[in-house]
Amino acid sequence: MRFSAFEILKQGLTGNKGWKPHWRSPEPKSHYDVIIVGGGGHGLATAFYLAKEHGITNVAVLEKGYIGGGNVGRNTTIVRANYGLEGNSQFYSHSLKLWENMEADFNFNAMHSQRGIINLFHSDGQRDAFARRGNMMISQGDDAILLDREGVREMLPYLDYEQTRFPIYGGLYHPRGGTARHDAVAWGYARGADMRGVDIIQNCEVQGIDIENGKVVGVQTSKGPIKCGKLGLVTAGRSSQTAAMAGMRLPIESHVLQAFVTEGLKPCVDHVVTYGMGHFYISQSDKGGLVFGGDLDFYASYAARGNLPMVEHVVEAGMTLMPMIGKARMLRSWGGIMDMSPDGSPIIDRTHIDGLYLNCGWCYGGFKAVPGSGFSMAHLMATGNHHAPAEKYRLSRFETGRGLMDEEATGAQHNLH
Ligand SMILES: Cc1cc2nc3c(=O)[nH]c(=O)nc-3n(C[C@H](O)[C@H](O)[C@H](O)COP(=O)(O)OP(=O)(O)OC[C@H]3O[C@@H](n4cnc5c(N)ncnc54)[C@H](O)[C@@H]3O)c2cc1C
Repeated sequence: MRFSAFEILKQGLTGNKGWKPHWRSPEPKSHYDVIIVGGGGHGLATAFYLAKEHGITNVAVLEKGYIGGGNVGRNTTIVRANYGLEGNSQFYSHSLKLWENMEADFNFNAMHSQRGIINLFHSDGQRDAFARRGNMMISQGDDAILLDREGVREMLPYLDYEQTRFPIYGGLYHPRGGTARHDAVAWGYARGADMRGVDIIQNCEVQGIDIENGKVVGVQTSKGPIKCGKLGLVTAGRSSQTAAMAGMRLPIESHVLQAFVTEGLKPCVDHVVTYGMGHFYISQSDKGGLVFGGDLDFYASYAARGNLPMVEHVVEAGMTLMPMIGKARMLRSWGGIMDMSPDGSPIIDRTHIDGLYLNCGWCYGGFKAVPGSGFSMAHLMATGNHHAPAEKYRLSRFETGRGLMDEEATGAQHNLH
């Protein structure tokens, strides 16, 4: 069933009784050409583009929980293409272009809103760094505008411009950046993949990987064994665990990241704003809640929940930047498990096991990468060749030390990326 103005009118006039589920709930078949483990954004997008771009439709996505229950439905929804490093820049630029057509592609409203992002800076050195980054974004074909303090004040009058410790010097404005409704992105890709014949199988945990003579031949699941020609591990925060089923030890650490939402307020924050002197980023959802986040909890964990010290840390940063936030009541917070890589950049690659592919290492920033990652992963799995924008996301860079992509020059410390 396709969504259209006509369909809405028809359903409205006939009691809204004809809407169908967005995807089927099939029992797993005994064999698929491709199995994707993980029904998060990246796994579903991979299945979608395998079907759409390459005509490979005998595909199953195996999800141990429910669609939208992982990080794809837990993030702070920021979408942007403001990277500076060769490789990252091309990849995120490609991903943002896919975002701009995505809803038409999968015929679903993901509430993608290009409301603009403003990264604040608070020193001369930071201004230089942002100016350099902005130039790189422009030379890549993306958009960036360097604002001075008055330029920022005009757009964001609610910030505290009187604070003396970290005065706001200006901001890098990225107009095409913005937000989207996170779980709707998962639902849209699930729906689009299902429409093209992909089986989406929820409550199906992969518990083992079958390898014969160096080639992957299938998986053991909570719904029984399933054979496959190719297997993609796309399990974000659980990547180390699923790769271990194939005897691999990944350079990934799993860490908790929390997000927070206030009660619904009248529209007051029109953009996405990030603080340059603390880890704090904020936007306002279409329901009116202020959605914000900060740093990792700073300990490795597989628990999708966080602790109070980080709540205090994030809220303090928020209060410093925009004291008005203190009047809002915080309603909800939650945590997600981040797949942190040692250089802060992801991995989209084949492995030493024939037919086994890997997609992980998205750190804080994998939501905006969903379309680009799915597109590149599908390309790799279908053709055997790396997709040009994701060419540099090789696993081997951690073995050889060549080609590391440390966007923030943080060093080889997972939790700092
Ligand atoms: C609080 C928070 C804020 C964030 N903010 C942003 C942001 O503003 N912008 C941004 O770009 N990114 C952000 N991110 C990061 C982004 O959400 C993630 O990088 C991205 O969603 C990860 O990819 P995914 O969607 O495929 O992950 P997931 O949705 O976690 O998908 C992985 C799936 O694999 C499944 N799985 C695991 N093991 C198995 C198994 N054995 N068998 C079957 N299935 C399995 C899991 O159940 C899960 O559903 C944020 C993350 C968090 C937690």
